[in-house]
Amino acid sequence: MIDAWTRLVAWLGDNTVLPFLRLLHLDGLSGDPREIAAALLVAALQIAIIGLLFRPLETWKPAERWTDRRLTRVDRQYTMWMLLGIFPLFTYLVLTPISHLFGGGGDADGGAAPTFGLAAWLPALRAHPFLLFAVYYLAYDLVYYAMHRLQHALPWWWALHSMHHSQRQMSCWTNDRGTLIDGFLQSMVLSTVGVVMGVGPDQFAWLMLLGELGQNFSHTNTRVGFGPLFERIFVDPTFHRLHHMRADDRHPGLHNCNYGQVLSIWDQLFGTALYGMAPRPTGVGDPTVDADNHHGLIGLHWVAMYRFWRVVRRRSGWRLGEVSFGPDYAPVPVVHGAAHGHAEAWEQAAATSEL
Ligand SMILES: [Zn+2]
Ligand SMILES: [Zn+2]
Repeated sequence: MIDAWTRLVAWLGDNTVLPFLRLLHLDGLSGDPREIAAALLVAALQIAIIGLLFRPLETWKPAERWTDRRLTRVDRQYTMWMLLGIFPLFTYLVLTPISHLFGGGGDADGGAAPTFGLAAWLPALRAHPFLLFAVYYLAYDLVYYAMHRLQHALPWWWALHSMHHSQRQMSCWTNDRGTLIDGFLQSMVLSTVGVVMGVGPDQFAWLMLLGELGQNFSHTNTRVGFGPLFERIFVDPTFHRLHHMRADDRHPGLHNCNYGQVLSIWDQLFGTALYGMAPRPTGVGDPTVDADNHHGLIGLHWVAMYRFWRVVRRRSGWRLGEVSFGPDYAPVPVVHGAAHGHAEAWEQAAATSEL
């Protein structure tokens, strides 16, 4: 199986990607064209799974009936751009060179004994590649959870991440809705985990694929859940849909929940898990952010980057806490328990926002 994969990657790299890179005069760079081929194949696999499995699931058992299907189109376009263009190129130009720079490869594929990383610190794990991979994944998922908390709590990062949340009709395509800066920061944080643990480039690609597929599934518009036992371990669509709920002043703070990527254990451990609620409307109440829905692919990217630019330069853009964006993009702290103040801040922002 692994052999067939390697042969397919080699064939595609030599016969398709390399001629294309030559055409663009990019073949002299240090990366290996086969890495682009691998990323493209993984992307094709991912899109096939979304299209053949997750989409039919949404038709069969929707969590909510969409009133304006048009809104989902921009997320699908984003996914195609990210998976088939930007991400393979980013892997080739940035992620793989970083991994090679740090001698990434302390993996369980055999070869020389690693001198760095998890397999070097715990040599016993080298004999159990699946267990080693599970430990890698556990650490990767925990870092994702911590980073995601920060994406909500750090105002300038929320200015970016809020674009992921502004979709009012969340679907299996919503996972890749995000700005390039946000994607870059996330990749840097997560690949640092890979470097520190000594994960080889191939294994890191599988870690990411697992995380991404898990997230494509958890964004699907379905009522599917994993049942009382497995939902305590893994994130299912019901769990992540609650993370995307629109804030409700009658239940302040309820939306600050379910940050996990693939494992729901971290939310339970750190007290942010929410179970047993019916699906709620998704999106962001802050009108400055909700205005994202008026834009197409390029416009959406532009307004989110502009929001980030206006927030990151302010001192208040660095003060931890939940915020909405008031006039002139000033972060307005959201005070739970004073729900009226929250609503007023939004109304004021709506009245004065240029968007
Ligand atoms: Zn989030
Ligand atoms: Zn999400």
